[in-house]
Amino acid sequence: MEDTIFMKIIRREIPADIVYEDAETIAFLDVKPAAPGHTLVVPKKPVQNIFDVDDGTLVAVMRTVRKIAPAVRNSVGAHGVHINSNHGAAAGQIVFHLHFHIIPRHDRNEFSFWPQHDSARSEFVTIAEKIRQLLG
Ligand code: AMP
Repeated sequence: MEDTIFMKIIRREIPADIVYEDAETIAFLDVKPAAPGHTLVVPKKPVQNIFDVDDGTLVAVMRTVRKIAPAVRNSVGAHGVHINSNHGAAAGQIVFHLHFHIIPRHDRNEFSFWPQHDSARSEFVTIAEKIRQLLG
C-alpha cells in the first residue's frame, strides 16, 4: 500500500492535533472539519478500507471510536455525532488509509442527510437475494 498522509502523522513526520493514541490506533482532528471537533480515528496498520481490513484491526478502530466519541461530542457541547466512513473513490474516499469520521452534531437541521428514495419491491428482492448469494 502506498504511503499516505496518515502514515506521516502516525510517524510524527507532519503535525496533527492528536487527541488519543494506543498501540493499534490514533485519533486526531480533521484538518478541514465538517463541524468543530470533527475527529478521525485511524489504525496504525496501513490498510486501505473495509475491503482489505482484518477483523482485529477493525475491532481496534471501533473500540477507539466508541471510547472517544463521548469526549468528542462533549468537547463542543454537541448532542450527537455522525460516525461516517468512506470506502473507495466512488464513495468519496480521498485518503486510502482506513479511517472513521466522528462529526459532532448539535441539531439535525445543521446540514442535510444523503438523499433517500422509494424503491420497487422487486428491486429489494433481487438485491437482497444477490447479496445472500455472494455471501455464500
Ligand atoms: P475521506 O478519505 O474522504 O474519508 O476523508 C479524508 C479526510 O482526511 C478529509 O476529511 C480531510 O480533511 C482529512 N485530512 C486530509 N489530510 C489531513 C491531515 N493532514 N490532517 C488531518 N486531516 C486530514
